[in-house]
Amino acid sequence: MAGTVSRLGQVLVVCAPSGTGKSTLIAKLREEFPNFGFSVSYTTRAPRGEERDGQEYHFVSRDHFVAMRSRGEFCEWAEVHGNLYGTATAPVTEMLGKGMDVLFDIDVQGAKQLKKTFYKGTFIFLLPPSREELTRRLTGRGTDSEESIAKRLANAKGEIGEARFFDYWIVNDNLERAYQEFRAVYMAGACKPELRTDVEETILKEWEDDE
Ligand code: 5GP
Repeated sequence: MAGTVSRLGQVLVVCAPSGTGKSTLIAKLREEFPNFGFSVSYTTRAPRGEERDGQEYHFVSRDHFVAMRSRGEFCEWAEVHGNLYGTATAPVTEMLGKGMDVLFDIDVQGAKQLKKTFYKGTFIFLLPPSREELTRRLTGRGTDSEESIAKRLANAKGEIGEARFFDYWIVNDNLERAYQEFRAVYMAGACKPELRTDVEETILKEWEDDE
């Protein structure tokens, strides 16, 4: 019967070198689609500025993180800039099961692990338009030391070297155009038959039962 079976949620993974505009694009998508589930990661890094436990991250001690990891509670984890980050499997599968789309803001190492569990997910890589432009953006933020900028640029090289792993590339040379591509990829992903258990159980069934 129509409306009784919900569709499955889409796993949307977004990776980008620091300074590419990932946070801005994710914030825009969440504003336009407020029902998005967001995977709140666990991290051993300290909260910054206005960050609150349970909102941007679950802030935990290294011991706590390692204990969760040894209990197999993470579907992916990675060490980024000296801190541990991980995604707990249970809340994600619960949201997906309810038909909620879930957005992951994780690094490339994590994305590669996640693909093993959520191989049907949509994996997006954001690119800066050029090396020169990324350097300019990182310098222009005025929040990072020269050493930190050099570190971010070195990391960017490693991450861009993994770009071919992803399903979609979006070049952020113009925020509005990049956002249009981002939302188009998300919306196209939502039309994949493997997520449309609702259509399967209603429209398709109706035609099968017709015989
Ligand atoms: P930040 O500390 O600046 O919030 O994040 C640093 C980096 O860690 C970003 O590239 C972010 O995407 C990544 N990150 C955040 N949460 C996770 C996670 O759960 N797993 C992995 N693999 N990376 C994460």
